[in-house]
Amino acid sequence: MTTDDRIPFFNYPALFTAEEERLLDIVRDVGRRGAFIQQRDLAEFETTLARSLASADAVGVANATDGIELALLAAGLEPGGEVIICSHTMIATAAAVHFAGGIPVPVDMGDDGLLDPAAAAAAVTPRTVGILPTHLNGRTCTMTAIQEVADRHRLFVVEDAAQALGSRFRGRAAGTFGVAGAISFYPAKVLGCLGDGGAVVCREATAGEAVRQLRDHGRDRDGVIRRWGRNSRLDNLQAAILADRFAGYDRIVRRRRELAARYHAQLHDLAALRLPPPPIENGDHFDIYQNYELEADRRDALREHLAGRGVGTLIQWGGTPVHGFRTLGFAGTGCPRTEAFFRRCLMLPLNMTLTDAQQDRVCREIRGFYGG
Ligand SMILES: *Cc1c(COP(=O)(O)O)cnc(C)c1O
Repeated sequence: MTTDDRIPFFNYPALFTAEEERLLDIVRDVGRRGAFIQQRDLAEFETTLARSLASADAVGVANATDGIELALLAAGLEPGGEVIICSHTMIATAAAVHFAGGIPVPVDMGDDGLLDPAAAAAAVTPRTVGILPTHLNGRTCTMTAIQEVADRHRLFVVEDAAQALGSRFRGRAAGTFGVAGAISFYPAKVLGCLGDGGAVVCREATAGEAVRQLRDHGRDRDGVIRRWGRNSRLDNLQAAILADRFAGYDRIVRRRRELAARYHAQLHDLAALRLPPPPIENGDHFDIYQNYELEADRRDALREHLAGRGVGTLIQWGGTPVHGFRTLGFAGTGCPRTEAFFRRCLMLPLNMTLTDAQQDRVCREIRGFYGG
């Protein structure tokens, strides 16, 4: 097999090489202006982001993990408050709750792979203060059901929208349902920068103002210290790169949805697989396919077979859902759907460098493995 035959799960160098000259122009422009921290590129990107999501504010932060933490603080989380999360999420979701002073309570996923509203309701205790759904793989949770649980128990909602920029439920963007939601610009995310980056989307200007202070040493716009704050700013250079990329975001999402539709067309008849929902126009969910995560019979053998043919795949979170991290004090059991799912889950390559021909080959190799 030559290098050309390999289909990597993700092509990191291409994030730079695919538009090297354009990126160097941006670096030169920002560098010559000396515009490194909280300059107009950041402000303009924040305005564009907020407008496109129809939110009151969007605040650039150093990464989405910080973003969730600051969003929780802006929502009023106090030490010891329990926050319900889905176990099928990155450990970062739980860590943000932990470092904001709260106690993360992971619960089972539903049939859709996302936070199960019934499991969330069952986990509410007198100490519960919030629900933190993760819009996983670029699909927004069914927020009506989650909001209903939150309203019934007077809980705040903060969203982990790290994987879901531009994903929608009934026309409303991920990150805009709760008090605030965090988006990640980690390189492999749908909108990635050349390093770490994130944003907090805020429904109301007051939360936006709080997050602005929290990310910048507690300072307000006049430089007056208003509260304890941190340094968790989005670099102005990264913001300039993100603004440039965001201008072409619709095309990126369209291509990802096209790739998801192509996987669906070529694999949906295989009984050994359970696929994610295909993209639907004008349905409740508008998915952006951060990942294409399916369930597969004989998952490990399939993965090995594909690796042998040069096809890279990934098992999300290294194969352990949040409640499985016993070293962090979690129970290790109690989320049966999530546990069953993690014996079968696998992510296929879906990214902007994947060609139709490569994707066709991925599908052929999978069909070959199952003998169909
Ligand atoms: C990537 C990711 C995060 C963390 O984002 P960073 O910007 O790397 O901090 C949190 N939650 C989910 C679901 C993620 O996929």
